[in-house]
Amino acid sequence: MTTVRDIAKKCAVCTKTSPQRMLASTSVWGQPDLDLRPSQMQRSSIFAWLEECPHCGYVAADIEKELEASPDILKSKEYLTCNGNEFKSDLSKRFFRRYLISKAEKNYNSEFYSLLHCAWTCDDADDELAVKMRRLALESIEKIDAESDDEKSNLKLIRADLLRRSLQFDELVREFGDMSFGNEIMDKVIAFQLELAAKGDSACYTLEDIPKEVTITLGGRLHRKLNMIADVNRVSLTEVMEKLLSDKADEMDSYEKMDKLFE
Ligand SMILES: [Zn+2]
Repeated sequence: MTTVRDIAKKCAVCTKTSPQRMLASTSVWGQPDLDLRPSQMQRSSIFAWLEECPHCGYVAADIEKELEASPDILKSKEYLTCNGNEFKSDLSKRFFRRYLISKAEKNYNSEFYSLLHCAWTCDDADDELAVKMRRLALESIEKIDAESDDEKSNLKLIRADLLRRSLQFDELVREFGDMSFGNEIMDKVIAFQLELAAKGDSACYTLEDIPKEVTITLGGRLHRKLNMIADVNRVSLTEVMEKLLSDKADEMDSYEKMDKLFE
């Protein structure tokens, strides 16, 4: 379970002391979301991931750690108004401010994860700014220099989910339609993402939601995509071909997306 305690912390910027919530312990069970957001209880500990100085507004994982940018940022309009974003929750504001600081510090990892976590808090608060945060996160994920192949793959998985959850379905198909990780689980995640994208589904899913029967044949580009469409529409490959060749107006809506799959 998650336990927290308050401890006194001295802000590295203004040197004033304030009580901050510290995570004493947490445990994880269940499958993470497709963007690797942890399941309960770790998920619910997000309120304690950042500290905020009530005196000067400095936000950091540890406010005793020095700010590696000009402290003027804390007084800037951009920082004070969260760049005009009217977030529903204070937690979202805190992550967004950490994003602004990380950007000023040129700490790309922190910049990206602050935005991703900001999107998560928007999800929790039912805040539509989640889409905007994911679009911003897609810009900053590009700046991260992955240190290992595992990290590189994880970032790609997160990227796929960011695209889908920020409603960029065509881009997801274009970018990941032919991608293979050479890893069964990762390939299944991407196949599932493509399936959801074809349905225009931007909801949150966990690894547990991946259908066991996803079997997209790796091989010819066209064959793979036809299989995907068949899978999404729960029809046979022959039926997909028939639909493709027909031009019945009432069926155009659900098959409209097909054209894009053959680009
Ligand atoms: Zn302070």
